[in-house]
Amino acid sequence: MTVFDAADFDNHHRLAFFTDPAAGLRAIIAIHRLRNGIAGGGIRMWPYDSDEAAIADALRLSRAMSYKFALADLPVGGGKTVVIGDSRRDKNEDLLRALGRAIDSLGGCYICGPDVGTTPEDMVVIGRETDHARGRPGESGDTSPATGFGVYHAIRAAAGHELGNDDLRGVRVAVQGAGAVGRALCRHLCDAGAEILIADIDPAAAAADFGASVVSPDEILAAEAEVLAPCALGAVLNDRTIPAIRAKIVCGGANNQLAEERHGAALAERGVLYVPDYVANAGGAINAVAEGADYDEAAALARTARIYDTCRRVFEKAEAEGIASSLAADRLAEEIIDG
Ligand code: NAD
Repeated sequence: MTVFDAADFDNHHRLAFFTDPAAGLRAIIAIHRLRNGIAGGGIRMWPYDSDEAAIADALRLSRAMSYKFALADLPVGGGKTVVIGDSRRDKNEDLLRALGRAIDSLGGCYICGPDVGTTPEDMVVIGRETDHARGRPGESGDTSPATGFGVYHAIRAAAGHELGNDDLRGVRVAVQGAGAVGRALCRHLCDAGAEILIADIDPAAAAADFGASVVSPDEILAAEAEVLAPCALGAVLNDRTIPAIRAKIVCGGANNQLAEERHGAALAERGVLYVPDYVANAGGAINAVAEGADYDEAAALARTARIYDTCRRVFEKAEAEGIASSLAADRLAEEIIDG
């Protein structure tokens, strides 16, 4: 593979490789852009099938972080660490400390946090080697309440645009995934008087709280509802699922909902308003960036609520340029980053 010709290479600022054989560390840190000299993004630990797959993920995810920060009006560039390995088997203190030293060697231009395969507790261990780890317990802590709050405001914006009213009273929302984000979202939907359908592959998770009706996981994506809120896995919007969607709006917290970029256009062609995932689910990142000695929860949540305005800008650009909302969001982000 040649990195410069890779499909996911976007003139990234830096791609750094780190190994520590004694600690079993093989890691790649991708910095897509620096803004104010800083890039931020989580650490993903995953048993990649190949080095090429790990590099592609680092390139793709770091760019997604740049877009997320740009549209959340946070002057931070996007970065990402991928650690090649199985977090349940290969993660230990030696490896995390070696990774901490690798992050420290970048001199503070990259700030890390937890992602798939790493936890707030891991950030404590990494933080023994570097000052540039965030998301430790007791700091911004669990980001899912802020993420769910942001998704709620994104749904309101989409409902205002598509249904002519951003008051969600009586609006039926089908939520896929009753995990941390799905439940945080349901709390706000319930308070707003929305009618909730919920599905989870874990029957214990999909309890009928919030006055929700429990639906089978096989049926939720095609449920009769105004809004579909994917809050479980990625790639749920694909060639198989899109033709069956009955909702007018797709807006949820899950990352990487589109199986491929072209599925954004496929949704638009079907007349479904898709709220790009990184716009809707930025609340956690907004909260994490705000952390520090002067952390102000109310200010972070007020900033999260502005996801409503960002969604409206995305919808307006999509209409003005006759393009899918996914492409409109990418273009808005690129204008902010490169402008
Ligand atoms: P979680 O593990 O707490 O919840 C996910 C839930 O989805 C689980 O209950 C799981 O059983 C369920 N699930 C999995 N497959 C399913 C299926 N096919 N049908 C129905 N339910 C299914 O995770 P979370 O923290 O709530 O995150 C959910 C999504 O949001 C993920 O894609 C994550 O990357 C994304 N996200 C989370 C945050 C955050 O702050 N936690 C921020 C941004 C994005």
